[in-house]
Amino acid sequence: MATIKPIEGRSVHQIQSGQVIVDLCSVVKELIENSLDAGATSIDIRFKNQGLDAIEVQDNGGGIAPEDFESVALKHHTSKLNSYDDLSGLTTFGFRGEALSSLCALAEFHVVTARASDGPKGTRLDFEVSGKLKNTSIVASTKGTIVSVANIFYNLPVRKRELEKHIKREYGKVLGVLHAYACISTGVKFSVSNQMPKGKKTTVFSTKANPTSKENIANVYGAKTLLALIPLDLKLEMQPGQGPTQSARNWGTQVDDPSRRVQVVGHISRPVVGEGRQTPDRQMFFVNSRPCGLPQVTKAANEVYKSYNVTQSPFIFANFIMDTNAYDVNVSPDKRTIMLHDQTLLLESLKASLVELFESHDQSVPQSQL
Ligand code: ADP
Ligand code: MG
Repeated sequence: MATIKPIEGRSVHQIQSGQVIVDLCSVVKELIENSLDAGATSIDIRFKNQGLDAIEVQDNGGGIAPEDFESVALKHHTSKLNSYDDLSGLTTFGFRGEALSSLCALAEFHVVTARASDGPKGTRLDFEVSGKLKNTSIVASTKGTIVSVANIFYNLPVRKRELEKHIKREYGKVLGVLHAYACISTGVKFSVSNQMPKGKKTTVFSTKANPTSKENIANVYGAKTLLALIPLDLKLEMQPGQGPTQSARNWGTQVDDPSRRVQVVGHISRPVVGEGRQTPDRQMFFVNSRPCGLPQVTKAANEVYKSYNVTQSPFIFANFIMDTNAYDVNVSPDKRTIMLHDQTLLLESLKASLVELFESHDQSVPQSQL
């Protein structure tokens, strides 16, 4: 008798879902990205018991059209990408059509959605574990979408127990993810609240719909934070075989290929003792405004900073603006890992440009003392 048999469809769905939604951070990241993709200018994130009991994300975006209700939570159904060829020109956060279907498999999940034309009425959508639409009902609602996720990982007992055990740390990481989206998203109002069991609802942080990231940073971390920061505006050029090139302020003339030019914009701590931070927190990296972890870039930036301020770590908010052909977001199911082509050259160029930037700043009087 043959021993190799296909895994039953339902089990495959659960296995794969657990790779897309790995923790609370993935839930929050996927829902925020959907709201931003829907054109929201206001996003309200409500936690119950730091997310252990429930997470609700409400936006004022375009809503979901009735003809899409059936497919919204089906695996690999998306309004954002038609074929693999479109991937490099992608302008949305989402593209795999996996988040909502995965949440159906791992949590108690429902959606309420209304478009501008729907008046004060919206539709509540309930789904089966497979992502198939189970039921719709008319409810009162304003324009936009509310996604509710409760009892996350109820059917993965080991992961659920781990989450309960480390909820404080996980919730801290979730807030870090939210800070990054709130700081980079100009023109979008974020509001984050938490309600502990038997406690009252508290606001965790909020931003206004600011026109600049700088104002977002002030809202999230306090206006005082800005005093210890200098603007980042590096123009990196990566010419194979020539090492780091040119000035940190201007493009050189040697590099014509746009995929070899990277602009880094944002803010970083002044390279002066007392102006950094005690711990290496508050370090946010983005590729074309997509929040992401870039471990090698993080390491390089910290190393350079430490050569000016040995005792502290920098605050970093750095958006790498680069050609969409120069990186790949489709590396891991949770889309957190971004693969940068020519990473070695990029790191060399980044280090050289940071040194140049810090050299021009380290002798000056800290702004906070002016
Ligand atoms: P993806 O974002 O990769 O398309 P998702 O599973 O996250 O996949 O979402 C599936 C689809 O549901 C999206 O393509 C989008 O059309 C719709 N959708 C999800 N969240 C929202 C939202 N907050 N507002 C409007 N439409 C949404
Ligand atoms: Mg999505």
